[in-house]
Amino acid sequence: MNKKKEKLKLVPFGIASRIGDTIYINENLKKYSPSLYQAILDHEKSHSSGFELRDITLDLRNSHLKGNKLKYYGFILKNPGTLIEFVPIYRYDGSFVINPLLLLSYLLLFFICMGFVSWIF
Ligand SMILES: [Zn+2]
Repeated sequence: MNKKKEKLKLVPFGIASRIGDTIYINENLKKYSPSLYQAILDHEKSHSSGFELRDITLDLRNSHLKGNKLKYYGFILKNPGTLIEFVPIYRYDGSFVINPLLLLSYLLLFFICMGFVSWIF
C-alpha cells in the first residue's frame, strides 16, 4: 500500500483519474452520491502513482464500484462531461492523461473492424 498522501483536485469534467500523486475527481460527485464518491476515491487511491500491471487488473476488476454501479451510470447520464473518461488520451493540466486499457480496447476494435472490412471486399 502507498502511504504517501495524495493530493485531491476537483475538476468539472470526467469522473476521476490519477496522475502521479494527484487525484482528479469530478466536483459534482460528492453531492450526487457520497458513497459513490468514496468508492471512486478509494479506487483511485489504490492505483500506483506510476503505471504498473496492477493498475490494469484494478480497472478490470473495479471491485470498488460494487453496489454503486447503478449510481455510477446514473452519474454519467446526468453529467455528459464525464464521457471524456471514455477518450483514451487527452491533455489536462499540462500532462497527457492516458487510459491504456481503453486505448487497447479501441485498437482491438479497430483491427476487428479492419478484418471485417477486408473479409467483405
Ligand atoms: Zn482506475
